[in-house]
Amino acid sequence: MTIYNFSAGPATMPDPVIAQIKQDLPSYNDSGMSVMEISHRSELFEDIIDQAEKDLRELLAIPDNYHVLFFQGGGTLQFTTIPLNLANKYHRIGLLDSGHWAERAGDEAKRVNVKVDVLNSTKADHYTKLPILKDLTQDTYDYVHITTNNTIEGTAYSTVPDTGATELVGDMSSNFLGQQYNIKDFGLIMAGAQKNLGIAGLTLVIVRDDLIGKVKNLPSMLDYQLFAQKNSMFNTPPVFAIYAAGLVLKWLKQQGGVPEMERRNRKKSSLLYDFLDASKLFTAPVQKPDRSLTNVPFVTKDADLDAKLIAEAADVGLLNIKGHRSVGGMRASLYNAMPYEGVEKLVNFLDKFEKNYWRTK
Ligand SMILES: *Cc1c(COP(=O)(O)O)cnc(C)c1O
Repeated sequence: MTIYNFSAGPATMPDPVIAQIKQDLPSYNDSGMSVMEISHRSELFEDIIDQAEKDLRELLAIPDNYHVLFFQGGGTLQFTTIPLNLANKYHRIGLLDSGHWAERAGDEAKRVNVKVDVLNSTKADHYTKLPILKDLTQDTYDYVHITTNNTIEGTAYSTVPDTGATELVGDMSSNFLGQQYNIKDFGLIMAGAQKNLGIAGLTLVIVRDDLIGKVKNLPSMLDYQLFAQKNSMFNTPPVFAIYAAGLVLKWLKQQGGVPEMERRNRKKSSLLYDFLDASKLFTAPVQKPDRSLTNVPFVTKDADLDAKLIAEAADVGLLNIKGHRSVGGMRASLYNAMPYEGVEKLVNFLDKFEKNYWRTK
């Protein structure tokens, strides 16, 4: 039975990447050592990290005045690291409250004594739409933080808010390399790897060079300037996760890059949204213009029925479609590595489930 894994993260990886890892595992590049065993100071690994950065720069057209940094600590540590490094003038940031991860970002910024102004929130709408930026007339924020794709609630900004002279920071964890954005619109972008770029343990940070190095005596592991100077190798980096991300980036290039990924993600998500919108049993709660291409929540409004559906889906190889505990219902994550056939199989299953429901009701 073919298994399709709709998990929100850690998430499905491209089959050719898994095959390559399997092939490389016992002896990487005929070295007699696996990637798990090689030194981060070896030429073998230097080639891996250099190539990964080069491929990422090419895929996203990252301008030369932006650093690419490889961190550990997940997206969550960046909620601390970003304000520590960037909120150094006003010690105040603006936040568009689009859901769980935006709130978490705000909470962590407050813990390092940065003031957080919620510029707009769609909490009252249960985050079924995106908060838009009203006027940002005063230059009183070090930056405005947005979550480009809300993994749990299933919304995504297709165009980013215009913050004028104020820097924009984007948490792109769940649609990094899955949807096109202009890097220059952001002062900083960060993304945990385990959603759309590889495996857990690695977080990418892309930051404009004039924004860093302004705060003295930061803890070393939280200092962007130090990481930039040391090419992300101040200490031992997550060697295997960087290797895995490198393979995913190579695969992305072969597939046609980010424009092709966005085209496929639109096609996959439309197939599912169109079915849900036509269904009398299922509802996709997010308003249409704000819908995510990578995370699709849906409900029946009957928790017992949802549980029955999730179990029956697993029986036919459609795994991890349970929604986040804060939203309930179901969620299908359709990251770059999810093939169209997986979504077709899911829609066929949902269709059969619905027909059976009405027949036996
Ligand atoms: C998963 C996720 C995070 C947190 O990532 P961790 O690696 O678990 O810390 C942050 N932001 C978004 C948008 C996410 O999807």
